[in-house]
Amino acid sequence: MSNRLNFKIVGSGPTGILLSIALSKLDLYIYLTDLLSREQLIYQEKTYAITHSTRKILLKFGIWEKLKPYLFGFDKLSISDSVTSSFTTLRISDLDDDISAERNIGWVIKHSDLMKVFFEEIDNNSNIIFKSPQDLSQEKVIFDYKFIATGAIPINKKSNHFLYFRKKYNQSCLTFKVLLRGNLQRCAYEIFREEGPLALLPLDKNLYQIIWTSSASKSLDRLNTDKNFLMDNLSTILPDYFKLDQIVGEVNLFPVSLSINLSIFNSKKLLFVGDSFHTFHPVGGQGLNTCWRDVNNIFDILNSNSYINKNNLRFFKFKYYLSRSIDIFFTLVITDSLITFFANRNYLFIPVRKISFILLNNFLLIRKIVLNQMTKSILFKIIK
Ligand SMILES: Cc1cc2nc3c(=O)[nH]c(=O)nc-3n(C[C@H](O)[C@H](O)[C@H](O)COP(=O)(O)OP(=O)(O)OC[C@H]3O[C@@H](n4cnc5c(N)ncnc54)[C@H](O)[C@@H]3O)c2cc1C
Repeated sequence: MSNRLNFKIVGSGPTGILLSIALSKLDLYIYLTDLLSREQLIYQEKTYAITHSTRKILLKFGIWEKLKPYLFGFDKLSISDSVTSSFTTLRISDLDDDISAERNIGWVIKHSDLMKVFFEEIDNNSNIIFKSPQDLSQEKVIFDYKFIATGAIPINKKSNHFLYFRKKYNQSCLTFKVLLRGNLQRCAYEIFREEGPLALLPLDKNLYQIIWTSSASKSLDRLNTDKNFLMDNLSTILPDYFKLDQIVGEVNLFPVSLSINLSIFNSKKLLFVGDSFHTFHPVGGQGLNTCWRDVNNIFDILNSNSYINKNNLRFFKFKYYLSRSIDIFFTLVITDSLITFFANRNYLFIPVRKISFILLNNFLLIRKIVLNQMTKSILFKIIK
């Protein structure tokens, strides 16, 4: 009989599925499951910003080259504050030497392209078994470890065995794609507005993904409005050189929160990964990148053992939460501070906002710190 351990991953979103691919490099059986079918998991209208730390993680797991045809890179990042009329543009020259050769600050990818490549990878791995929860329950397998990657809605928050913290921003995020007239440069935009940040991510020469944060009620009104009216509404707040042509595909709404969910007060062999472990405000496009850094740490901890057995899994949970604490703390503080200072018209914060842009526009070192922290995170050097 095989001595291989059985690991179960509940949730096959981008976190659960990358975790299955990463763990398949180890000598394990991986059982991956989701409430949704393969088609439902693939065909979703989401788009993700990809950072340099993610590039390194995907390279490590042999996925980067396969994703390359579907990635759209951007070499400029425009940051502006509509309340103080301040702006700056970060460029390739602001990147650290170890990443500047990539000639991109970041990349953007459609969810469906990402998931197609991921599922092809699963099909080529005999030790990943993807099944519905019903089919999996027929298997009579005893699982040696369970990973919960079920996304932002917690499945256990009422239990005393888990530590759950959540801050609601009373904001929601509206996402949709727009076609623009004319040829735009490969530039991403983060526009700080009184109601919340508005991000524009380039997906093609004249296709942009809009990630528009606002109060929950305003976002809902915009979701229910006519597409032409929504486009007119957006045109009034975009810089003049954006000539909107039409909205493409669906308009979606997703809730925005800051949350931490830890499974520490119990001896259960389970832990949380990705959005089910932590959620952040989408400002700065850190969400999924942070989820994939969880996957990287899980792989590293397990891979540091010459072989994986029940004994060395005993302290696995604590090693994992400890190894993720600094990165998650930084991401939490940075995203939350950006919202506290830049998503309002509070006159007390105006000097801080103006000074931030003066510093960014006049000091190369400050520009470098901001841009490289955003795209590399504090983990870049230790991702091997
Ligand atoms: C509508 C929407 C639009 C978004 N758009 C963007 C965007 O444009 N850009 C961006 O950067 N981020 C976006 N986000 C956030 C981004 O999707 C998440 O940060 C990212 O998907 C986290 O990945 P995950 O795999 O951890 O969780 P998820 O992607 O949420 O995946 C969780 C999976 O678990 C499954 N699941 C849930 N409960 C169970 C259960 N009990 N048993 C089995 N399976 C279960 C779900 O079906 C799902 O497939 C969006 C989120 C939503 C909800």
